[in-house]
Amino acid sequence: MHPDLVTLLTLQDEDTAVATLESRVHALDRQTETLDRERSAAESAITRARETAEGEEKRRRELALKVQEHRALQDRHLAVLDSVRKDREAVAAMAQIEISRRVLTQEESELQTLTVRIADLHQAIELEMLLLDEITERQTSERAEIAKARAELDAQVAAARTQRDDTAKRIGRPLLQKYEHIRGREKTNALYALRGSACGRCNTAIPLQRRNVMAAGRSIEVCEGCGVLLYAAV
Ligand SMILES: [Zn+2]
Repeated sequence: MHPDLVTLLTLQDEDTAVATLESRVHALDRQTETLDRERSAAESAITRARETAEGEEKRRRELALKVQEHRALQDRHLAVLDSVRKDREAVAAMAQIEISRRVLTQEESELQTLTVRIADLHQAIELEMLLLDEITERQTSERAEIAKARAELDAQVAAARTQRDDTAKRIGRPLLQKYEHIRGREKTNALYALRGSACGRCNTAIPLQRRNVMAAGRSIEVCEGCGVLLYAAV
């Protein structure tokens, strides 16, 4: 048997263990991202509602100003009507009054609608804020659980990495580099046993001569079909 084979198989198992732990870390990160998205959606809803309310408040201020001006104008028209002596002038003044009265009525009705809408918007904002509080409160315990699990996992990952690095030191450098290169590329096992006379992964036939060398324990070969490392199982 190749002198490094047992150690390399051990390393492969330990790398699998590290990868499994890391995938659990990633799963926790995804959970945190989901919580973040939920909270930021609630925050965005509040921001949007506030912006809408601010826009409507600006419109209301502008409209209130217009109403004020039009009321003053109306008062002047009424004063003019009081002071005119001739019928023709009175008719003209009354026409003015009628026009500005219609405008005022329209504007005051708009102002009232806007006031109701603004009150509704503020109520909606309050509800959104309550919702955000609920989300934050619920997430506090979820985030604490995730943080606890994450800390435990981080420690396990660190220990598993140290162990695999110690194992790696016991393997000849060229073989280790080959193994790590393949593992980095494939993101899965790099070392496979021969299955009969073929690669245990992709089933490419291995020439007899190379198999003999492998069986004699003198070499760990690279499969020409899929590029993984092959060894002869005893
Ligand atoms: Zn293969």
